[in-house]
Amino acid sequence: MSDQEFIRALGYANAAFDLLKRSQIPPYPQFYELLYTYATGVNPSLNNRINAIFRSGTSPSTDLAETLYNEFLKSDVNDRMSSVSERMHARIESVHDAIDAAMTTANAYSGSLQSAAGDLERDLGGEAMKTLATRLLTETRRMQNTNRELEQKLEASRDDISALQRDLDDVRRESMLDPLTKIANRKSFDEGLADGIAASVRSGDPLCLMLIDIDHFKNFNDTFGHQTGDQVLRLVAMTLKSNIKGKDLAARYGGEEFAAILPSTDLQGAIIVAENIRKAIQAKELLKRSTNEKLGRITASFGVARFRAADSAMTLIERADQCLYAAKHAGRNRVVSEDELVEIDDVSDKNVSIA
Ligand code: GH3
Ligand code: MG
Ligand code: MG
Repeated sequence: MSDQEFIRALGYANAAFDLLKRSQIPPYPQFYELLYTYATGVNPSLNNRINAIFRSGTSPSTDLAETLYNEFLKSDVNDRMSSVSERMHARIESVHDAIDAAMTTANAYSGSLQSAAGDLERDLGGEAMKTLATRLLTETRRMQNTNRELEQKLEASRDDISALQRDLDDVRRESMLDPLTKIANRKSFDEGLADGIAASVRSGDPLCLMLIDIDHFKNFNDTFGHQTGDQVLRLVAMTLKSNIKGKDLAARYGGEEFAAILPSTDLQGAIIVAENIRKAIQAKELLKRSTNEKLGRITASFGVARFRAADSAMTLIERADQCLYAAKHAGRNRVVSEDELVEIDDVSDKNVSIA
């Protein structure tokens, strides 16, 4: 994490605590998350709602915070995960019950057989023999019935468990995607980068990281509304995804920030990919679907860094972030790679040594 990012996050955290304190809402994790999200402004619909509450003079209560949390932040994925887990639990319980019943019957049967064996050692008359045979027959039938029930329950469980397995796979897949753009979310980005770095260390193949930030997106939202802004985020995500290939991973890194992990790609190659994406984004003329109103074009800035032996995921991201920052500083709508950063550093080093 860069210093800049740390300071920004600390600012959001302080703002969230202030709001919790002022509204007398207990700082439970979900309420902290709610107001932290509000402070970042990444969820414009949530912010509109909270701003309207503040404007109306209603003092936000714990109940209201709970409602907002459920509406805006509680994820469907979590709900579905709990539902799968509950069903799995119920199924396992029912199989346990069936096994318990079968074991009780089996024990009773074994007891009956033992006592019958004892009886047989004595000299039994015809009538007693008949009673014994009838008793054993009844016990055997009971045992057969319980076994059949167990078989049926296991059979039903097998189908159910396959369905649950499919649901679980769906939920797992969904939990790795950003709900708005349907590309990888931050969690899968983090995992993808860790895997990519490990593979690069193993194979010695190069790996590059690209960070992308839409230029002046706040203005765009303010001018055309957040819904239209969301459409643009989808468009950028699609453009990013369609310009990478193979093992590359495109992800939504944060609000209007995206990332691409490019395994087996050197810095020159990564710069070319970034330039292609930059041009493709710039080339799109945006039209409002409902009215055909022309919304102009958007641009984005890019930072590209290559993995070095001493890097952790964090230092690699930090360097790509510095490149992105330099691209913004240099006027936006451009790609800055770490080689250009080194040149800037070299120049300042020389200046220092001359002075
Ligand atoms: P810069 O060129 O320096 O990046 O300027 P910017 O306006 O893009 O940057 P800033 O960080 O000031 O604003 C980012 C904006 O992105 C703020 C917020 O309105 C918007 N944003 C973030 N997440 C979302 C989202 O999920 N949907 C929409 N519509 N807008 C979002
Ligand atoms: Mg940004
Ligand atoms: Mg931006």
